[in-house]
Amino acid sequence: MSRPIRGRVDLDALRHNFSVARRYGAARNTRLFSVVKANAYGHGLVPVATALADLTDGFALLELSEAIALREAGIQNPILLLEGFFRADDLPVLAEYGLTPAVHRLDQLEAIEGAGLPVQLPVFIKLNTGMNRLGFTAATLPAAQAFLAQAKAIGDVAYMTHFADADDPRGVDWQIQRFDALVGGWRGTVSLANSAALLRHPQAVRGWARPGIVLYGSSPFADQSAADLGLKPVMSLESEILTVQELAPGERVGYGGLFEAQAPTRIGVVACGYADGYPRHAPTGTPMLVDGHRSRLLGRVSMDMLCCDLTDLPQAGVGSQVTLWGGDLPADEVASAAGTISYELFCAVAPRVPMSHVGGQADVA
Ligand SMILES: *Cc1c(COP(=O)(O)O)cnc(C)c1O
Repeated sequence: MSRPIRGRVDLDALRHNFSVARRYGAARNTRLFSVVKANAYGHGLVPVATALADLTDGFALLELSEAIALREAGIQNPILLLEGFFRADDLPVLAEYGLTPAVHRLDQLEAIEGAGLPVQLPVFIKLNTGMNRLGFTAATLPAAQAFLAQAKAIGDVAYMTHFADADDPRGVDWQIQRFDALVGGWRGTVSLANSAALLRHPQAVRGWARPGIVLYGSSPFADQSAADLGLKPVMSLESEILTVQELAPGERVGYGGLFEAQAPTRIGVVACGYADGYPRHAPTGTPMLVDGHRSRLLGRVSMDMLCCDLTDLPQAGVGSQVTLWGGDLPADEVASAAGTISYELFCAVAPRVPMSHVGGQADVA
């Protein structure tokens, strides 16, 4: 029999979360790029995109190979490449598959103009409004706009930016001001909001929003839970107890003996480790569920195993079901105990963990 660890993705919950995002954009007729980069945040690109295709206005991701995989799976929605293209050689592929790049350097506009493509390529011009990763600034944008004004090979132009602090008190207004100053009275397409801005900053909700994490049922905010936002968990990571150990006081468990039993302690050894994507830096006390009951991590996470506390769960034993996150245990709670964010938990789930998908059909009348 195969190792018992597995991921489960609830595509009905995904569709529900999309409808929550849609509601926040509805007042301003905002279109939504569902962000499916990094294998749909670890949830499985094609099943996720297929489940959203009839709902979403478009998809946004980074990897050209993933964009091609969407087209080959029959996805016809607009696709935005969030980091643009990386080599001029890729431009014929963008044209062939109908992919829209974000463009953040002048030489990329020149490359499009010089590529001899059979069709005009639409672009999202990325503006750096304070994140200071990618994008044109007040110093570099005028040359790009002058180039665009005479370009023949570039089709529809849109402007986009990305927020650094949409989920914290610094907010988005300072970046919106810079955006508006850069684009002047631009009346065409724009794209600003990630999940946090879509849910919390209506002034950022224009044109196309780009929600990612809320679709997967986690909160972008430290001070508001996913349940409070009406979101449902999508991924659960589950495994089983392989064996049980009884520790006498003073005995330790695992590498480094980080956990030392103070009293008689019953330990469950779980088939899940950092090679499955569970964070190695999760400390003793990180929550998990055993047969639906709260338990906690004990000691250091190994490559293929971790230990949990069964002292108060006498009925649990070999074969008991362990939920590392998902269902009644929010990934946000596990992430916070482990000093990370649910984005990282989801993206880190290793390819060796089989992921199954349930639901996801449009409601049949
Ligand atoms: C990842 C990403 C998003 C989605 O962010 P969430 O916080 O998951 O909503 C939006 N825009 C860009 C440019 C991104 O890279």
